[in-house]
Amino acid sequence: MALIVHKYGGTSMGSTERIRNVAKRVAKWARAGHQMIVVPSAMSGETNRLLGLAKELASGKPGDDHNRELDMLASTGEQASSALLAIALQTEGLPSVSYAGWQVQVKTDSAFTKARIESIDDERVRADLDAGKVVVITGFQGVDEGGNITTLGRGGSDTSAVAIAAAMKAHECLIYTDVDGVYTTDPRVEPDARRLTTVSFEEMLEMASLGSKVLQIRSVEFAGKYKVPLRVLSSFTPWDIDINEEAKSGTLITFEEDENMEQAVVSGIAFNRDEAKISVLGVPDKPGIAYHILGAIADANIEVDVIIQNLSKDGRTDFSFTVHRNDYAKAVDLLKAKVLPTLGEADIVGDTKICKVSIVGIGMRSHVGVASKMFRVLSEEGINIQMISTSEIKTSVVIDEKYMELAVRALHKAFDLDQPAA
Ligand code: ADP
Ligand code: ASP
Ligand code: MG
Repeated sequence: MALIVHKYGGTSMGSTERIRNVAKRVAKWARAGHQMIVVPSAMSGETNRLLGLAKELASGKPGDDHNRELDMLASTGEQASSALLAIALQTEGLPSVSYAGWQVQVKTDSAFTKARIESIDDERVRADLDAGKVVVITGFQGVDEGGNITTLGRGGSDTSAVAIAAAMKAHECLIYTDVDGVYTTDPRVEPDARRLTTVSFEEMLEMASLGSKVLQIRSVEFAGKYKVPLRVLSSFTPWDIDINEEAKSGTLITFEEDENMEQAVVSGIAFNRDEAKISVLGVPDKPGIAYHILGAIADANIEVDVIIQNLSKDGRTDFSFTVHRNDYAKAVDLLKAKVLPTLGEADIVGDTKICKVSIVGIGMRSHVGVASKMFRVLSEEGINIQMISTSEIKTSVVIDEKYMELAVRALHKAFDLDQPAA
């Protein structure tokens, strides 16, 4: 007997029929003798629907973020799906109980809409499991010190599931979704994308942080920190397939390199359309200038991603960086109000129609020329690179958004990702 955590995403919970199927699958695992915790997302579209309603009523005034209420609102999506799943499980003849984050408790900080899990009490859940119940715990939400409901950022149910698996010392955390594993790139953009049977933790961390939304980055961080065995698999296989076959399907996130791991130089391609570029042109090229510009941005709690500074000419230089598109207007307003007046002749231009495309692979550590091959492939497609950022196991470029799919497909082919790795 093992303790297993299952997480089901929005599409997998998308209708009562699908919830019934989830219940049948979970019942199969419980009847095989496992203790089961299930973490559902809201039914697909529900979080967007709720946030859309809030947008209709929001004041729109700078500073009025309504974030506490947004969490109060968005968390109801998971509360509804969890209760529905517990009802479906009971109908399958399994004793089951559903809990909201505050009932467990899943304790978080107070950063509404992007809270971080700080601790999870295991007492209540453990007692239910010992009493033979399947425990359903809402994904995406927690409670802060003041008793306020918080949410963990979009896609946060993955993180709930892995954090709960870590706190309960579960044997494995299975993330059931609408694709049958982690692919070399998003199969919706590149139909020739190939499923990886294993992916290293480091690569998964990079892919998630660079935009592959198949797993929320914090879930991968948790899995790494607490060594939670993590697998991504399909919720759309027939619920009654052989449990041993199901347990080996999908993609396993591995923590150690072993001989079974694929040995590709580049393992995957990630892309992100959520960023925008800001350039400050003609700034005086003197010590402290980066701090002067980016310090103001950081003080406003805006995260900066790729940064470049051009060669200086006549004592002046251009400085560009990317921020999340949601923060773009705030960042530009802030620079215009606070920084520009101190920079003499400088000017600000922005571009929201960019995207970041990245190649990821631990094999890049031991191979030279991988980045230059990326640049060659893009140049052969006539794609201009606006910014570059590299690390040991990734190279990212910022390009015009309209070339995103072309770039992903050309790189996928050039790095032989459509072919099984040697
Ligand atoms: P869920 O609702 O189950 O959490 P998500 O929509 O958050 O599902 O994540 C699954 C989606 O992630 C897939 O439908 C796919 O389009 C997308 N995706 C992006 N990159 C990848 C990748 N490398 N491998 C698999 N899926 C990917
Ligand atoms: N329902 C939340 C969202 O749509 C959390 C999740 O699905 O993981 O972002
Ligand atoms: Mg998701």
